[in-house]
Amino acid sequence: MRDALPLIWRKIPERYTLLGSHCNNCKTDYFPQRTICPHCRSKGKLVDKQMPREGKVYSFTEVHSGPAGFQHETPYFLAIIELPNKVKVLSQLVDSSKDKVKVGAPVKMVFRRIFADGAEGVIAYGFKFKVVN
Ligand SMILES: [Zn+2]
Repeated sequence: MRDALPLIWRKIPERYTLLGSHCNNCKTDYFPQRTICPHCRSKGKLVDKQMPREGKVYSFTEVHSGPAGFQHETPYFLAIIELPNKVKVLSQLVDSSKDKVKVGAPVKMVFRRIFADGAEGVIAYGFKFKVVN
């Protein structure tokens, strides 16, 4: 078992649905979730907010030498996705051919397996993005 598993379970709403925070005071969106608005500090009133599921590629890199657990997936694309509310999320790009992965390319969120924890272990799913035509 990985030590990180309890954290994975706590993070399920964020991982599955891109659930972030919205500050009712300054109207700024945040992902991952915050408990204090970095902009207004204690005056901020943060509430849960679903992040948009579509965005565009802000920048990307092609990974040829992956970390433990991801070696079998190389090469793959890792991108910073900019959402319409200016929130940026780091995500793997899946099902996206090399010629379509460009800065500014439109993307949408998809669900994919992130890792399997042993033969009978937990399979963690989460969001990734793919380039849309
Ligand atoms: Zn605020």
